Formats: sequence, structure tokens, C-alpha cells
Amino acid sequence: MWNKVLLKWAKCPSPAQETRWLWVRLSVLPSFGFLFDIDGVLVRGKTPIPAARTAFRKLVNSQGQFLVPVVFVTNAGNCLRQEKADQLSHLLGISQDQVMMSHSPLRMFKRYHEKCVLVSGQGPLLDIAQDLGFCQPITIDTLREKRPLLDAVDHDRRPSILVGVDFSVVLFGEPVRWETSLQLIIDVLLTSGYPGNPYEQENYPHIPVLACNMDLMFGHGTFMVCLENIYKKITGKELKYEALMGKPSRLTYQYAEHLIRAQALQRSWEQPIQTLYAVGDNLMTDVYGANLYNRYLEESSSKGSKARIQAKLLASAAAAHCRSVLVCTGVYNPHTEVFDPGLVEPDHIVPDVDAAVDLVFQLENFAPN
Ligand SMILES: [Mg+2]
Repeated sequence: MWNKVLLKWAKCPSPAQETRWLWVRLSVLPSFGFLFDIDGVLVRGKTPIPAARTAFRKLVNSQGQFLVPVVFVTNAGNCLRQEKADQLSHLLGISQDQVMMSHSPLRMFKRYHEKCVLVSGQGPLLDIAQDLGFCQPITIDTLREKRPLLDAVDHDRRPSILVGVDFSVVLFGEPVRWETSLQLIIDVLLTSGYPGNPYEQENYPHIPVLACNMDLMFGHGTFMVCLENIYKKITGKELKYEALMGKPSRLTYQYAEHLIRAQALQRSWEQPIQTLYAVGDNLMTDVYGANLYNRYLEESSSKGSKARIQAKLLASAAAAHCRSVLVCTGVYNPHTEVFDPGLVEPDHIVPDVDAAVDLVFQLENFAPN
């Protein structure tokens, strides 16, 4: 397991609290990877957090190459990942392949890429959708322009861009005019993609809905709650998501792990990645998500189960653990009340990201050349 082994003396307290010297094996190749949150960990708005510069110097070699697999995972969704990578470029040259936005796992949903999708949110929605692989995205604005003159009797005036059978809805983030988006998305759901047609009960299960970033505190989660409630009031049935992504969803961590493995493979690091360290400032997204994923990894590994085999096929999930590391440079407030304290209890609390890197290197006995 130890690709190369260095030995050093380390000072360890014995069970009798005496100091003894023990041999500790140091690894020069990583069997772990980092998932860094961005806002509150590396930057505050556009300003870099000083500890991030120090931390990053430890993460790269003299050629500027990363010494461990690193993915930057943000719940932001209203820009392209290249824009986020550029935002971090004053800290370090990173590639867009290392950046995960809330919508990035949509790359895996290839079965929707050829189909018509209605996209809701803000920012360059069509660019984002096309960058993710969608060939036929339509924005709410485009649909709205087609809709006002809609005549249910005159079939020629029905919007030709919508094809019911292969239609789906992607919710990227909160839109600007909620009432317009809510109305049109509901119309599309009730009519299976033909908003000119009357609503029919048999349009259930409704056409697929894929949603990013369900964070209740920052807008989109609240928008989704509105949509779910309106749908239920009208139909008496639950709005069901084909997929939910963004922290704290499991899908996001599976995709992050997939990217971590891809980096390790690219660098020919042959040691299996055993542990993921998720460093973040938010209990409800970063810590909760990491702990939830850890629970999933440990449960599926203890069962040795079908779920684990399936996960390996789907998203290369093969790590044994996902550890949560909370930093105090962002939104974390020790006096905030939380629900489900079990899952929002971080494995480690450190002052900043530099301390997080030191801690993980120490825990992993990692000593790169
Ligand atoms: Mg944050």
C-alpha cells in the first residue's frame, strides 16, 4: 500500500503517558483527496483569504503541479466553471476540470443531452446548458415569448419548439421573476411539455425534473419549495425529482469523487484513494453533505453490497471514508442552533484552510518530495 516509504522518528505518548519514540511510515503518494469549498474557505467575495495562499503553496510541487488530487466544489450555479477557475487564478493556476459547480453532475445525465430541456435560473443559462452537453436548451424567456399568443384551437400557433415526449426541466438556480417561472414550469409539467394543451390527470408521473442547489438559505431551495407546493395543490400529487445535485446531495460527492479518481489516474498515482477530506465553512452544506456521504460509503462498504457495486459502476465511488473539516473563516457561527446534530458535527474544526491542509497531511503521514 505504501508506494514508497520513508521512515522518521515521531514523538508519541505511550499509554502510560510517557514519551516514547516510534517509527512512523510516511507516504509520498496520496491515498486521499481534497474537496475544497470556495467561498468562506479560499475567498470572501473576490478577496482571497490569506491562509489560502499558504495552504496552496503546500499543495503543489516546484513545477506548480498538485501533489494530491484536489477538487473545488461550490454550490454556485449561475456561471460557467471556467469563470470560477479564473476567479481562483490569483491564488493558483487551476484547470476548469478541477472546479465543480452545483450543476456539474448534469454531465453524467447523457440520456437527457439530446432532448429538449427547459432551463430555469440566472446568468448565461444557454452557455451553461450547452457546456454541460445539452443540445436543445430553451430558456423560460424563450418560452414566455412563444406563449402569449398561444391559441389552443389553432394548432399552427402552438409552440413548435416543445416536443412533449422527450421534454425535461432543469432548475439551475433561482430565477429573477419567480412568478413567471413558476407559472410556466407548472404549465409545462401539467401538460407534459405542451403548455397549449389542457391539463390532464394522466400526465403523471410528470416529465423529468432535474434540480441543482436545494440550499434553503440562499434562494433556490425556497423556489423549489414553492414549485413543489403549487404542483401539489393543483394535482394532489408529489413533484418528484429525477435528480437533486449540489451540496449536500450524495450525487455531488459521488461526482467529486469521480473527478478525484480521474486526477489520480491522470497522474499515475496507483495508490487507491481511501479517504476524502471535505473542507468547508458551512455546517448545513459542507459538513452535513460530507457526513452524509461518509455514512453512505461506510454503509455500502459494510454491506459489501449491490449498492456498492452499483455505485462503482455509476460514479466510481470506492473511497472508504469522507471526513468533514470545518474552517472558521466563513459563515460558521458556533452559536447557531442546528437540527440533526449528528450529521452536522464536523470530524475536525480548524481555524483556516492552511491549518486544514497541515492537519490532513499529519493524519495521513503524508510527506511529498
Ligand atoms: Mg462556503
